[in-house]
Amino acid sequence: MNRNVAILGATGSIGTATIDVLGQLADEGWRAWGVSGHANLDALATACEKMSLPPEWIVGSDPGLAAQFDSRRWPSSSRFESGAERLVALASADEVGVVVAAIVGRAGLESTLAAVEAGKRVALANKETLVVAGTLVCQAQQVSGAEILPVDSEHSAIFQCLQASQTPAERIILTASGGPFRDWTREQMEEASVAAALNHPTWKMGPKISVDSATMMNKALEIIEARWLFDIPAESIEVMIHPQSVIHSMVEFVDGSVVAQLSPPDMRLPIQYALTYPDRVACSAPRFDVTQRWDLSLEPADRDRFPALELGFEVAAVGGTAGAVVNAANEAAVALFLDQKIRFTEIVPACRKALENHSYERHPTLQRLIELDEWARAEVQRWHCGANF
Ligand code: NAD
Ligand code: MG
Repeated sequence: MNRNVAILGATGSIGTATIDVLGQLADEGWRAWGVSGHANLDALATACEKMSLPPEWIVGSDPGLAAQFDSRRWPSSSRFESGAERLVALASADEVGVVVAAIVGRAGLESTLAAVEAGKRVALANKETLVVAGTLVCQAQQVSGAEILPVDSEHSAIFQCLQASQTPAERIILTASGGPFRDWTREQMEEASVAAALNHPTWKMGPKISVDSATMMNKALEIIEARWLFDIPAESIEVMIHPQSVIHSMVEFVDGSVVAQLSPPDMRLPIQYALTYPDRVACSAPRFDVTQRWDLSLEPADRDRFPALELGFEVAAVGGTAGAVVNAANEAAVALFLDQKIRFTEIVPACRKALENHSYERHPTLQRLIELDEWARAEVQRWHCGANF
């Protein structure tokens, strides 16, 4: 297998963890052949300097920021290019075997889709691409024969658990930490600060997914992601709260046997497995410590306090344009919350309202999905200016 990896979004939480994993696997011929960064090019240059073999190709996806950056900081042997369309070129380059899709949000759509169309192994962290365009990604995968392997820890767990049987699973049980507001009342959530929402109890992640975890919109996106990745109907997906983030998810078979995957929370394990599958190799993530007591709890999720979950199940059931609209409204509302322009508890209602106000289509084109993405963002801005969610 071609072990040249392109990391799209190499400066983020998943991107830097991927660089670490590839450093550990360098002796087996793995390398970051190509990398991209958006805003933090300084960090990208530093990461490239530290690699034993610098990347062949570096993309700065924001052309304005790339133009301002001192080009002498790039390794002399690397080719540097800028612009969103160069991401697509990197994702489909012949020299690349595996694409780690680690850009956050809808911004990762075109490059992730390009990697699928080019028949790459795609290690998928960018769940929003499946939420926005699940049907189109699956169609492209069937044509190209691309392998889409989950990086999301829950989906990696499900993927691993499914290997326990030839018989299809009856149910998928996604675990959720419950985020920082797991025990908060609705009234407390009304007053939630940005700092509190970003303070995730078990994972250290980028700001957007951290807020998504606090609203549980992250689990909603993961329900939709599971629907597409495993071709399983929404009714066969369940969510349970598991605050310790050690049981990463479970699968139930027809005989009632439930298979789970466990490991201390660390994204390097699912990232590495998406690269080396079907092989397993030693990983630098911490191991399960049998000398310590583990109190692992599971409880049902509270759909009243976390209305995002209902939204996730609905979108997973109807497909079509629903995912693009909810995802875009969520991205716009999360950005407003991070800017302290709206309350935490206004994020999910904004998504609900966008879903209900849009004209649903069952089989949209990519162009239509992109138009609806822009429409939903504009609607959220408009409502915000009218202070009415
Ligand atoms: P992050 O904010 O830490 O990093 C995001 C990356 O995307 C950065 O490299 C950034 O430069 C790049 N980027 C941002 N805007 C861009 C744009 N407009 N065009 C091109 N690139 C852009 O995010 P993260 O936490 O690493 O999450 C990345 C993806 O992985 C998300 O889809 C998230 O849901 C998913 N994911 C993350 C984790 C985690 O532990 N962090 C776990 C599971 C899934
Ligand atoms: Mg996850």
